[in-house]
Amino acid sequence: MRKEGISTLAIHAGEGICPTTGSVAPPIYQATTFAFRNAEQGAAIFSEEMEGYVYTRWGNPTLASLERKLAALEGGEEALVTASGMAAVTIALLTVLDSGDHVLCSKGVYTGTYKFLSYSLRRFDVEVDFVDGTNPTLFEKAIHPNTRLIYIETPANPTLDVIDIAVISDIARRHGLPLFIDNTFATPCGQRPLELGADVVIHSMTKYLCGHGDAIGGAIIGRRKFIEEARKVTLRIYGGVLSPFNAWLIMRGIHTLPLRMRAHSQNAMEIAKFLEEHPAVKMVRYPGLPSHPQHEIALKQMKLFGGMISFELMGGEEAGRKLMNSLRLCTLAVSLGDTRTLISHPASMTHAAVPREERLRFGITDGLIRLSVGLEDVGDIIEDLDRGLSYLGESHSP
Ligand code: PLP
Repeated sequence: MRKEGISTLAIHAGEGICPTTGSVAPPIYQATTFAFRNAEQGAAIFSEEMEGYVYTRWGNPTLASLERKLAALEGGEEALVTASGMAAVTIALLTVLDSGDHVLCSKGVYTGTYKFLSYSLRRFDVEVDFVDGTNPTLFEKAIHPNTRLIYIETPANPTLDVIDIAVISDIARRHGLPLFIDNTFATPCGQRPLELGADVVIHSMTKYLCGHGDAIGGAIIGRRKFIEEARKVTLRIYGGVLSPFNAWLIMRGIHTLPLRMRAHSQNAMEIAKFLEEHPAVKMVRYPGLPSHPQHEIALKQMKLFGGMISFELMGGEEAGRKLMNSLRLCTLAVSLGDTRTLISHPASMTHAAVPREERLRFGITDGLIRLSVGLEDVGDIIEDLDRGLSYLGESHSP
């Protein structure tokens, strides 16, 4: 039988016509608690002899619907949704790690993940090394006897480094370690890490999955045993549960994910080419550009290159500030994956908390600008950037 395509799954997976009312759109179960028919049923549900809902921190039908959709999209056995992307990162890691463990992490991961690994987990005697994942030999050498898991982000935020997932999966398998991947930038429309050998996929659903900049959420996708442990042991206790309304908004957003990702990628490709040719631009990073250092890997593992671009101006940080202050259509804001084009300066915003030396080691230079290309007409975005770049003038050339 023909396997359903990703656009069909994005719409239909996990959903269905409501058997009680015939509602075509999924209902929102905006409830905290669920009544038992009698004491015996309550006891049976509590002891897991019978399936049923108890309390939304334990599970909720709207969340379950979204979880089935995510598992289908990523090709995983099961999914768990969480209150935010950071809740997904922390819950996934806390499900596995013990004091005395070591985590091998690719350099240049999202700042929240970096801070959790560097500061929060260190308080619990978990060690971490951030190593260049684009150099697998170096990466493998950093595995210690107490390494408990490998964590990577590809494309990375905001350097857009691309890591070869199949190669790192192979290293992880040879050392008997699980591989966790943050797939926020690519989405399952861009790459499917579980098919390339990863064990756990993490998302900030706040970004492309939701897609409209109006709901925060996260997700973990993987094998049933791991997800059930994350759900029952970690999430229930730590409490980072997603609200049913946000789950519904995200589910609605996912219906158009494949369409949006194609449009984001098309716009981003044109803008990346425009920036690369502009005399005020020193360097452009976009996985779809042949000049990207890991373009060949991106071609091999990514179906779409996504909507994220980072670039550096000839005039460095000052020119960047001037550009951001002169734009009219692009919005100066953090976050990404929105319908609107968002522009930000990692060194002074998202990555301000990372010590400068460490930041530079991760490739996040003072003048790096991050662009989350939206779904506006590409000509309008280019016109806005072109006008902003023209204000920089000769004085900002090297
Ligand atoms: N992972 C990546 C790659 C991100 O970019 C972000 C946020 O920007 C997160 C995780 C954290 O997600 P959230 O803001 O939903 O907690």
